[in-house]
Amino acid sequence: MRFDILTLFPDMFRGPFDESIIRRGQDKGLIQIGLHQIRDYTVDRHRTVDDTPYGGGAGMLMKPEPLAAAIESVKQLNADATVLLTTPQGRPFTHTLAQELSLKPGLIILCGRYEGVDERIHQHYVDHEISIGDYVLSGGELAAMVLVDSVTRLIPGVLGSDESALTDSFGDGLLEYPQYTRPPEFNGLAVPAPLLSGNHAEIAKWRREQALRRTAERRPDLLAHAALSAADRLFLRS
Ligand code: SAM
Repeated sequence: MRFDILTLFPDMFRGPFDESIIRRGQDKGLIQIGLHQIRDYTVDRHRTVDDTPYGGGAGMLMKPEPLAAAIESVKQLNADATVLLTTPQGRPFTHTLAQELSLKPGLIILCGRYEGVDERIHQHYVDHEISIGDYVLSGGELAAMVLVDSVTRLIPGVLGSDESALTDSFGDGLLEYPQYTRPPEFNGLAVPAPLLSGNHAEIAKWRREQALRRTAERRPDLLAHAALSAADRLFLRS
Protein backbone atom coordinates (compact mmCIF):
# COMPACT_ATOMS: atom_id res chain seq x y z
CA MET A 1 0.00 0.00 0.00
CA ARG A 2 1.35 3.39 -0.94
CA PHE A 3 0.22 6.51 0.94
CA ASP A 4 0.90 9.95 -0.52
CA ILE A 5 0.17 12.88 1.73
CA LEU A 6 -0.27 16.42 0.41
CA THR A 7 0.35 18.96 3.13
CA LEU A 8 1.74 22.39 3.93
CA PHE A 9 3.53 20.84 6.95
CA PRO A 10 5.37 17.66 5.93
CA ASP A 11 7.70 17.93 8.93
CA MET A 12 4.75 17.22 11.25
CA PHE A 13 4.79 13.61 10.01
CA ARG A 14 8.47 12.83 10.34
CA GLY A 15 8.56 11.89 14.04
CA PRO A 16 5.27 9.93 14.15
CA PHE A 17 5.96 8.03 10.93
CA ASP A 18 9.47 7.08 12.01
CA GLU A 19 8.32 5.10 15.04
CA SER A 20 6.69 1.85 16.03
CA ILE A 21 4.23 0.05 13.75
CA ILE A 22 4.33 2.57 10.90
CA ARG A 23 8.13 2.38 10.87
CA ARG A 24 7.92 -1.42 10.91
CA GLY A 25 5.42 -1.45 8.03
CA GLN A 26 7.83 0.66 5.96
CA ASP A 27 10.87 -1.41 6.94
CA LYS A 28 9.07 -4.61 5.90
CA GLY A 29 8.18 -3.01 2.55
CA LEU A 30 4.46 -3.41 3.25
CA ILE A 31 3.74 0.32 3.09
CA GLN A 32 5.43 3.28 1.43
CA ILE A 33 4.76 6.86 2.49
CA GLY A 34 5.37 9.92 0.32
CA LEU A 35 5.18 13.38 1.88
CA HIS A 36 4.56 16.24 -0.55
CA GLN A 37 4.81 19.97 0.13
CA ILE A 38 1.87 21.64 -1.62
CA ARG A 39 3.87 24.88 -1.95
CA ASP A 40 6.22 23.07 -4.32
CA TYR A 41 3.36 23.09 -6.84
CA THR A 42 2.86 26.89 -6.87
CA VAL A 43 4.10 28.97 -9.77
CA ASP A 44 4.38 32.47 -8.25
CA ARG A 45 7.46 33.72 -6.49
CA HIS A 46 5.66 34.00 -3.12
CA ARG A 47 4.60 30.33 -3.35
CA THR A 48 1.01 31.34 -2.57
CA VAL A 49 -1.37 28.53 -1.55
CA ASP A 50 -4.30 30.51 -0.12
CA ASP A 51 -6.67 33.30 -1.09
CA THR A 52 -9.74 35.10 0.28
CA PRO A 53 -13.14 33.42 -0.17
CA TYR A 54 -15.56 34.78 -2.77
CA GLY A 55 -18.47 36.46 -0.99
CA GLY A 56 -16.28 37.56 1.92
CA GLY A 57 -16.15 36.13 5.40
CA ALA A 58 -13.48 35.13 7.84
CA GLY A 59 -10.25 33.39 6.97
CA MET A 60 -8.54 32.16 3.84
CA LEU A 61 -9.11 29.18 1.56
CA MET A 62 -6.64 26.86 -0.13
CA LYS A 63 -6.43 27.81 -3.81
CA PRO A 64 -7.33 25.09 -6.30
CA GLU A 65 -4.39 25.34 -8.74
CA PRO A 66 -1.50 24.21 -6.47
CA LEU A 67 -3.63 21.38 -5.04
CA ALA A 68 -4.68 20.25 -8.50
CA ALA A 69 -1.08 20.30 -9.74
CA ALA A 70 0.05 18.35 -6.65
CA ILE A 71 -2.67 15.70 -7.07
CA GLU A 72 -1.96 15.29 -10.81
CA SER A 73 1.75 14.89 -10.12
CA VAL A 74 1.36 12.46 -7.22
CA LYS A 75 -1.09 10.34 -9.22
CA GLN A 76 1.81 9.46 -11.49
CA LEU A 77 3.54 7.81 -8.51
CA ASN A 78 0.36 6.22 -7.15
CA ALA A 79 -1.68 5.54 -10.29
CA ASP A 80 -4.63 3.56 -8.88
CA ALA A 81 -4.83 5.54 -5.66
CA THR A 82 -8.08 6.62 -4.06
CA VAL A 83 -8.04 10.34 -3.26
CA LEU A 84 -9.17 11.26 0.26
CA LEU A 85 -9.88 14.73 1.58
CA THR A 86 -9.74 15.27 5.33
CA THR A 87 -12.66 17.46 6.38
CA PRO A 88 -14.99 17.72 9.37
CA GLN A 89 -17.82 17.52 6.82
CA GLY A 90 -16.82 14.06 5.57
CA ARG A 91 -17.99 10.50 6.22
CA PRO A 92 -17.25 9.60 9.85
CA PHE A 93 -14.10 7.47 10.05
CA THR A 94 -14.73 4.02 11.56
CA HIS A 95 -13.09 0.61 11.71
CA THR A 96 -15.30 -0.47 8.78
CA LEU A 97 -14.03 2.38 6.63
CA ALA A 98 -10.43 1.65 7.71
CA GLN A 99 -10.94 -1.96 6.54
CA GLU A 100 -12.32 -0.75 3.18
CA LEU A 101 -9.36 1.57 2.70
CA SER A 102 -6.83 -1.13 3.69
CA LEU A 103 -7.89 -3.09 0.56
CA LYS A 104 -7.05 -0.20 -1.80
CA PRO A 105 -3.78 -0.28 -3.74
CA GLY A 106 -2.95 3.27 -2.71
CA LEU A 107 -4.27 6.35 -0.97
CA ILE A 108 -3.61 10.04 -1.64
CA ILE A 109 -4.59 12.12 1.38
CA LEU A 110 -5.16 15.87 1.16
CA CYS A 111 -4.60 17.87 4.31
CA GLY A 112 -6.60 21.07 4.44
CA ARG A 113 -5.56 24.21 6.32
CA TYR A 114 -7.12 27.62 6.90
CA GLU A 115 -10.91 27.45 6.21
CA GLY A 116 -10.43 24.39 4.01
CA VAL A 117 -10.07 23.92 0.25
CA ASP A 118 -11.86 25.38 -2.77
CA GLU A 119 -15.01 23.31 -3.42
CA ARG A 120 -13.95 22.50 -7.00
CA ILE A 121 -11.13 20.31 -5.62
CA HIS A 122 -13.78 18.26 -3.79
CA GLN A 123 -15.84 18.01 -6.96
CA HIS A 124 -13.12 17.18 -9.45
CA TYR A 125 -10.50 15.13 -7.63
CA VAL A 126 -11.78 13.67 -4.39
CA ASP A 127 -13.17 10.11 -4.11
CA HIS A 128 -14.02 10.24 -0.40
CA GLU A 129 -14.26 13.03 2.15
CA ILE A 130 -13.40 11.74 5.62
CA SER A 131 -13.93 13.20 9.08
CA ILE A 132 -12.19 11.77 12.13
CA GLY A 133 -14.80 13.19 14.50
CA ASP A 134 -17.30 15.92 15.23
CA TYR A 135 -14.82 18.62 16.14
CA VAL A 136 -12.65 20.99 14.14
CA LEU A 137 -8.88 20.58 13.89
CA SER A 138 -6.57 23.35 12.71
CA GLY A 139 -5.45 21.20 9.81
CA GLY A 140 -5.78 17.80 8.18
CA GLU A 141 -2.35 16.52 9.22
CA LEU A 142 -3.49 14.89 12.48
CA ALA A 143 -6.45 13.37 10.65
CA ALA A 144 -4.10 11.99 7.96
CA MET A 145 -1.93 10.42 10.68
CA VAL A 146 -5.01 8.75 12.17
CA LEU A 147 -5.98 7.36 8.75
CA VAL A 148 -2.48 6.06 7.96
CA ASP A 149 -2.01 4.48 11.39
CA SER A 150 -5.37 2.73 11.55
CA VAL A 151 -5.21 1.48 7.95
CA THR A 152 -1.59 0.32 8.26
CA ARG A 153 -2.30 -1.96 11.23
CA LEU A 154 -4.94 -3.77 9.14
CA ILE A 155 -2.50 -4.63 6.34
CA PRO A 156 -1.55 -8.31 6.64
CA GLY A 157 1.96 -8.80 7.98
CA VAL A 158 2.35 -5.36 9.59
CA LEU A 159 1.41 -6.48 13.09
CA GLY A 160 3.53 -9.18 14.71
CA SER A 161 2.01 -12.59 15.41
CA ASP A 162 1.25 -11.67 19.03
CA GLU A 163 -0.63 -8.50 18.02
CA SER A 164 -3.85 -9.20 16.23
CA ALA A 165 -6.15 -6.61 14.73
CA LEU A 166 -8.89 -9.28 14.89
CA THR A 167 -9.04 -9.37 18.69
CA ASP A 168 -8.81 -5.59 19.03
CA SER A 169 -11.98 -3.61 19.63
CA PHE A 170 -14.23 -3.52 16.53
CA GLY A 171 -12.29 -6.43 14.92
CA ASP A 172 -15.25 -8.76 15.53
CA GLY A 173 -17.76 -5.94 15.91
CA LEU A 174 -17.44 -5.77 19.71
CA LEU A 175 -15.29 -3.86 22.16
CA GLU A 176 -12.38 -5.91 23.43
CA TYR A 177 -12.58 -7.74 26.77
CA PRO A 178 -10.63 -6.35 29.80
CA GLN A 179 -6.95 -7.33 29.92
CA TYR A 180 -4.61 -8.05 32.84
CA THR A 181 -0.92 -8.78 33.26
CA ARG A 182 1.25 -9.66 36.29
CA PRO A 183 1.04 -9.31 39.28
CA PRO A 184 -2.04 -11.45 40.08
CA GLU A 185 -3.12 -8.90 42.71
CA PHE A 186 -2.60 -5.13 42.51
CA ASN A 187 -3.94 -2.52 44.94
CA GLY A 188 -6.25 -5.16 46.39
CA LEU A 189 -7.69 -6.00 42.96
CA ALA A 190 -7.29 -9.61 41.82
CA VAL A 191 -7.02 -10.89 38.27
CA PRO A 192 -10.30 -12.71 37.45
CA ALA A 193 -10.00 -16.42 38.26
CA PRO A 194 -10.80 -17.78 34.75
CA LEU A 195 -7.68 -16.03 33.36
CA LEU A 196 -5.49 -17.87 35.88
CA SER A 197 -7.16 -21.25 35.30
CA GLY A 198 -5.02 -22.37 32.36
CA ASN A 199 -8.25 -23.73 30.81
CA HIS A 200 -8.39 -22.29 27.29
CA ALA A 201 -12.10 -22.95 26.79
CA GLU A 202 -12.93 -21.25 30.09
CA ILE A 203 -10.72 -18.27 29.21
CA ALA A 204 -12.31 -17.91 25.76
CA LYS A 205 -15.83 -18.07 27.27
CA TRP A 206 -14.96 -15.46 29.93
CA ARG A 207 -13.44 -13.15 27.34
CA ARG A 208 -16.40 -13.42 24.99
CA GLU A 209 -18.85 -12.68 27.80
CA GLN A 210 -16.80 -9.74 29.02
CA ALA A 211 -16.61 -8.32 25.48
CA LEU A 212 -20.39 -8.68 25.16
CA ARG A 213 -21.01 -7.10 28.57
CA ARG A 214 -18.62 -4.22 27.95
CA THR A 215 -20.09 -3.52 24.51
CA ALA A 216 -23.65 -3.63 25.88
CA GLU A 217 -22.68 -1.16 28.63
CA ARG A 218 -20.55 1.24 26.62
CA ARG A 219 -21.56 0.92 22.96
CA PRO A 220 -24.90 -0.85 22.67
CA ASP A 221 -25.20 0.56 19.12
CA LEU A 222 -22.46 -1.88 18.00
CA LEU A 223 -24.49 -4.95 18.96
CA ALA A 224 -26.96 -4.35 16.14
CA HIS A 225 -24.23 -5.08 13.56
CA ALA A 226 -22.10 -7.67 15.42
CA ALA A 227 -22.21 -11.36 14.46
CA LEU A 228 -23.81 -12.86 17.57
CA SER A 229 -24.32 -16.57 18.27
CA ALA A 230 -27.33 -18.02 20.05
CA ALA A 231 -25.16 -18.33 23.17
CA ASP A 232 -24.16 -14.65 22.87
CA ARG A 233 -27.82 -13.61 22.67
CA LEU A 234 -28.70 -15.77 25.64
CA PHE A 235 -25.86 -14.22 27.67
CA LEU A 236 -26.98 -10.69 26.77
CA ARG A 237 -30.53 -11.46 27.92
CA SER A 238 -29.32 -12.89 31.25
N1 SAM B 1 -14.06 25.63 7.60
C1 SAM B 1 -14.06 24.20 7.71
C2 SAM B 1 -15.46 23.73 8.14
O1 SAM B 1 -16.08 24.43 8.92
O2 SAM B 1 -15.87 22.63 7.70
C3 SAM B 1 -13.03 23.75 8.74
C4 SAM B 1 -11.63 23.96 8.30
S1 SAM B 1 -10.43 23.32 9.44
C5 SAM B 1 -10.07 24.74 10.42
C6 SAM B 1 -8.98 23.15 8.48
C7 SAM B 1 -8.71 21.75 7.95
O3 SAM B 1 -8.54 20.85 9.04
C8 SAM B 1 -9.78 21.13 7.11
O4 SAM B 1 -9.72 21.56 5.77
C9 SAM B 1 -9.48 19.65 7.24
O5 SAM B 1 -8.48 19.26 6.34
C10 SAM B 1 -8.94 19.55 8.65
N2 SAM B 1 -9.93 19.07 9.63
C11 SAM B 1 -10.50 19.80 10.61
N3 SAM B 1 -11.33 19.07 11.35
C12 SAM B 1 -11.29 17.82 10.84
C13 SAM B 1 -11.95 16.61 11.18
N4 SAM B 1 -12.81 16.53 12.18
N5 SAM B 1 -11.68 15.51 10.44
C14 SAM B 1 -10.82 15.58 9.40
N6 SAM B 1 -10.16 16.71 9.05
C15 SAM B 1 -10.40 17.81 9.75
